[in-house]
Amino acid sequence: MADTPLDLTSDAAALTAQLVDFPSESGGEKPLADAVEAALRALPHLTVDRYGNNVVARTDLGRTERVILAGHVDTVPIADNVPSRLDEDGVLWGCGTCDMKSGVAVQLRIAATVPAPNRDLTFVFYDNEEVAAHLNGLGKVAEAHPDWLEGDFAVLLEPSDGQVEGGCQGTLRVLLRTAGERAHSARGWMGSNAIHAAAPILRRLAEYEPRRPVIDGLEYREGLNAVRIEGGVAGNVIPDACTVTVNFRYAPDRSGEEALAHVREVFADCGVEEFVVDDHSGAALPGLSHPAAAAFIEAVGGTPQPKYGWTDVSRFSALGVPAVNYGPGNPHLAHKRDERVETAKVLACEERLRAWLTA
Ligand SMILES: [Zn+2]
Repeated sequence: MADTPLDLTSDAAALTAQLVDFPSESGGEKPLADAVEAALRALPHLTVDRYGNNVVARTDLGRTERVILAGHVDTVPIADNVPSRLDEDGVLWGCGTCDMKSGVAVQLRIAATVPAPNRDLTFVFYDNEEVAAHLNGLGKVAEAHPDWLEGDFAVLLEPSDGQVEGGCQGTLRVLLRTAGERAHSARGWMGSNAIHAAAPILRRLAEYEPRRPVIDGLEYREGLNAVRIEGGVAGNVIPDACTVTVNFRYAPDRSGEEALAHVREVFADCGVEEFVVDDHSGAALPGLSHPAAAAFIEAVGGTPQPKYGWTDVSRFSALGVPAVNYGPGNPHLAHKRDERVETAKVLACEERLRAWLTA
């Protein structure tokens, strides 16, 4: 219920249910952010800051390393799946169970129950992750208070099915424009066809062999693909313009600038008239060789997996903090009407993090 305080003495599974029953669709996070802030302020070992509906809490024990545990408190729109429901198999159903109130519950439980961790801890609870990137609360905090996000290593408790997902690939979208000259198609020789001029671009894309680099033991898979093509004026006109939209998903051993230079080079001799960068989000290195990360992998077990899609770990990477995704939900169930999480996995995630931070 949206006006009951959060009870951090209940275990992470029960706390997940409380959080799910506290609706917080993107843009409507304030009541939940208030409740999170109030619950954290009641813990004397934490210093709490707030910026908008983003809450950051930290220990200050003078440890040699600082670890960040981060999660978003918003959900996609509710689909008749709140309040939550726990079935007889220990599966908790409801909006946000998987993405990612189970992860947030684990963060809150660690905040409440590990007052003297072996590494200093920063807990970040942020809003507007499920909507446009410019609204993202983690991005806003990074811009206004980058010092709040200082640390040696960050764990985002996004659903990853209890596996460590390292880094993430970058994504670059460019528009490649070709030019021609309009003419009546009955006298095509009077003009020049911009759609035909795109043929070298398409051939280059079809022949492109993407890399599969191994970084920190993880194999990434790049991809260079046309995702849209636009051209043509009318059924009887030789077109004078054509645009091929190309998406480059690149591994985190390339900087944003290097990725851009690579794409320019690939199409350098393809007759591109105009090259426009439409959208660009950088990659994030997995950083698994950092001592704090290595200790984390050892404590939680399993084989780390590469993250092909773009995630908020990249925002930490941009601040110089290596980051991974590690959370109890199954990512394939995120955003679904029948979204759910196995409570045993939520409890296991809490236990593993506690073991890592108290060893
Ligand atoms: Zn999420």
